Amino acid sequence: MLAVDRKRQSLEVGGKIGILGGGQLGRMLALAARQMGYRIFFLDPSPDAPCSSVADKKIVANYNDIPAVLKLGSKCDVVTYEFENIDVQAVIALEEAGYQVYPSSNVLKTTQHRILEKEFVCSIGIKTAPFYPIYTAIDLEKAAHQVGFPALLKTVYGGYDGKGQVKIINLEQAQQVFHSLNNRTLIWEKIINFTKELAIICVRDQLGQTVTYPVTENVHVDNILDTTIVPARISSKVASQATEIAKKIALHLNIVGVFCVEMFLLENDEILVNEIAPRPHNSGHYTIDACMSSQFEQQLRAICGLPLGSPKMLTNSAVMVNILGDHKGDRFFGTTEILANPNVCLHLYGKKKAKPKRKMGHFTVLSDDIKTALDIAEETRKKLSWLETKTKRSK
Ligand code: AMP
Repeated sequence: MLAVDRKRQSLEVGGKIGILGGGQLGRMLALAARQMGYRIFFLDPSPDAPCSSVADKKIVANYNDIPAVLKLGSKCDVVTYEFENIDVQAVIALEEAGYQVYPSSNVLKTTQHRILEKEFVCSIGIKTAPFYPIYTAIDLEKAAHQVGFPALLKTVYGGYDGKGQVKIINLEQAQQVFHSLNNRTLIWEKIINFTKELAIICVRDQLGQTVTYPVTENVHVDNILDTTIVPARISSKVASQATEIAKKIALHLNIVGVFCVEMFLLENDEILVNEIAPRPHNSGHYTIDACMSSQFEQQLRAICGLPLGSPKMLTNSAVMVNILGDHKGDRFFGTTEILANPNVCLHLYGKKKAKPKRKMGHFTVLSDDIKTALDIAEETRKKLSWLETKTKRSK
């Protein structure tokens, strides 16, 4: 399936792409793959993962089921993953068996572990929030002395959307949290009084070429991304600083594929890196409707050995809003009203249960200016709801 294109080895149309994970990111990647003529196989523990309805084949198995992961590898030309909380051993097993996997297990190992990730970022001269690794109860006292309060105690593995983090205001509380988490390794992070949260999507190809998207401004509610505003309302100096940070990370991480860097902007315009996600990211969903090449198309281009596309925005500004589930019902209502505004693009992920705070979809507003986009986004928000039962008005 691999055809030689000058220095590149690119995957031909009809080639098979494997994804570890079949959530909404896998689904959007699969949709982009279909558009480009590739086939998608994925592995996910859930039989009705959102990717199911758009992929060619699935394997229902846990991420640490190495024989199942190797089966996926054996059926595909190239494998990737759609979230970082998969077992790194699965990626190592694929690599050792000679299958192509992007990003590599080294990238995953660093970025899925909050301590290794922060140590890596600091090692290349980029700042993070002050932190202290917690391996034993004694470390809590050292962290209290060195980093202080208020702080967040975060699990090093498996945290996302604010899961696995607790705010602590004194040592006694920190000790209780540590014991309640069975003395598991944690990271103690100082709470940063940021002025804005920023993010940037970046992609690096197999030849080391890197493309960066505009810096986004992210608003979180209850630690979950609520709104992405693009371009971020920051100075050009801050924007180029954030872009340089992403490029430096791409180079030193030696990543192939799309990644996202989440950052805190301080009052003095200093930038601290919070997290690196080695995959397409919620902060980049706006690229589907607002840019020449979406982050999903770029991921395919990078892992399939194709030239990277353009990150250029096709509109002056974009605002992406996540649609979360609530406790009211599983039936989405408001499609007709939302789409009455031609500047709004609606994406629903086909999840059956709209559990509270579950990411069910998103919409993106495209506009000439950010203020109008934000106004339309607020109006659109009011039009959507979750209903318990089927009603005649629901479309
Ligand atoms: P994380 O799971 O690290 O991505 O954190 C989720 C969200 O929690 C971030 O986007 C911030 O809004 C908030 N957060 C995480 N770490 C810190 C910190 N050190 N200081 C202030 N807010 C934080």
